[in-house]
Amino acid sequence: MPQIQLLSEEAINQIAAGEVVENPASVVKELVENSLDAGSTEIHIDIAFGGLNLIRVSDNGSGMEKEDALLSIQRHATSKILQFNDLFRLSTMGFRGEALAAIAAVSKMTVMTATEVGTKLEIDAGEVKKVGPCARQRGTTVEVRDLFFNVPARKKFQKTPPALAAEVYRLVTTLALSRPDVSFSLCSSGKTVLETMAFGERAEQLIGSAFVKESITVSFEEGGLKLTGRLGLPSQARQNRMGQYLFINQRAVICAPINFAIREAFGNRLEDKAHPSYLLHLSLPPDLIDVNVHPQKREVRLRDEKAIRQVLQEAIRQSFEEPLRPIITFSPQEPISWQETPAFNFLAQEEPLTLFPVQEEIRVVGLYAHFLFIEEGEGLCAVDLCNARYRLIYNQLMDAKADSLEKQGLLLPFTVDCNPVEAAMILTHMEAIEALGFHMRSAGKQLFMIEAIPPFMREADVKAFILEAAGALQSFIGGSDIAVKRKEKLALLAARFAKNQKIFNVEEAVSIVRALKKTHSNRDCPQGTLTQVVISRDEIQRLFTH
Ligand code: ADP
Ligand code: MG
Repeated sequence: MPQIQLLSEEAINQIAAGEVVENPASVVKELVENSLDAGSTEIHIDIAFGGLNLIRVSDNGSGMEKEDALLSIQRHATSKILQFNDLFRLSTMGFRGEALAAIAAVSKMTVMTATEVGTKLEIDAGEVKKVGPCARQRGTTVEVRDLFFNVPARKKFQKTPPALAAEVYRLVTTLALSRPDVSFSLCSSGKTVLETMAFGERAEQLIGSAFVKESITVSFEEGGLKLTGRLGLPSQARQNRMGQYLFINQRAVICAPINFAIREAFGNRLEDKAHPSYLLHLSLPPDLIDVNVHPQKREVRLRDEKAIRQVLQEAIRQSFEEPLRPIITFSPQEPISWQETPAFNFLAQEEPLTLFPVQEEIRVVGLYAHFLFIEEGEGLCAVDLCNARYRLIYNQLMDAKADSLEKQGLLLPFTVDCNPVEAAMILTHMEAIEALGFHMRSAGKQLFMIEAIPPFMREADVKAFILEAAGALQSFIGGSDIAVKRKEKLALLAARFAKNQKIFNVEEAVSIVRALKKTHSNRDCPQGTLTQVVISRDEIQRLFTH
């Protein structure tokens, strides 16, 4: 028997499906893009169990005749291009002609579609089981049940249903922002979770009023390039890319050079690791972009990339030329309650320092900015209190047993409001966030009531932290060490926020240093920057000698 064998059609389809159909969100994406290509103005999406049990997309687009419907689920069947060169004049979302075939190969699919007459197809793992007439208005409904029922390996690597639903949510939001002229609705397990408003209010509805208020309008045109939308002020910057919506020719894309160009245009208006928020629509002649790089068409490549980058940066600089509103760094209502709470409750009992052979007494030389200088042996030790606190809190969170972390009840609970995508993500990951010492509950569609916070966190940082934590958790997928990785990530994030405290009094500083001496891995912070530096008397003397 020969070693090499041709793959069966079934195997080929399943392999191809792996490229296009990663998870429920990618199915929704393909189906909705087909609806958009069919000229629909209303698209309704239903999912159940995160999309694993059911994904249904209904539209009022062109619909298909029976023959076309049967062809549509074959591989490389498309009505959108005839030859390779057409790829460079592309104005539709789809073109590879493989999405429906790929989805059908890994699910139980029903297609109901009608032009004047209606047709219903039932397909099981890619095999057409039934074809018949049906009553339907013009348009198409594709129903996908039991996704991945015949590819258990892929099913195993799916996130939890709430996390999958949150992804679908984010995707539909993105699609709704890409096409303000089309109305969208999304139901998850029977509940309507998103129903788009008209064009004008959509950004506010989907990204949030804070973004709309704290952003500037961009409107720029040069040659065949047009850039419109909103650019978030530095106050809207995030630690991740969740606030970035870029559409090229109405397609939501990832385009690293463009992201880079935008980031660069912000210059030092932003801190090093901050990512700007934006909602930008770029339109370009279709022959300047190549979308055929990525099977899901998420990544695009630009021809003449340099010129496009330059024009973009110019556009953004011009938009910034209006004077920027000052960024508020201090607000009088900034909660003071946290200062009344002891910064280090976990240090309450002052045990003798036995772990390290250091002197019992800390002989303080002085406190300068966020550095505490103490005498150490024959020299001077400078402790960076921010880094020290970063290390301490990280260790505390990592070493804590489940549910043993202290919660600081608030006398005045406060609310955190967010946009629908953020709310879905927070809900999904609420338990993990609460385990850090928060107590929160959902208080309306996009509102959370915060009733307790960890003692090390400032009220002012709570919203940013929760959003970042939910975003970070959202990006995890299954795997054996997932629990440990999640714990590490959360601890790192929370501890980093603790660094925001920059002002210390001497008692606080001393208690931080005491605790630092007692904790493990205390030489540097979790990101590897030193917590303390010792300078010997000789070294100091040398500074004064030549
Ligand atoms: P592609 O979108 O790349 O052409 P698909 O497999 O996604 O490939 O779809 C195959 C074909 O089926 C499309 O080219 C289109 O003609 C038809 N089709 C798919 N979905 C719809 C729909 N919702 N309405 C009308 N036609 C559709
Ligand atoms: Mg398609």
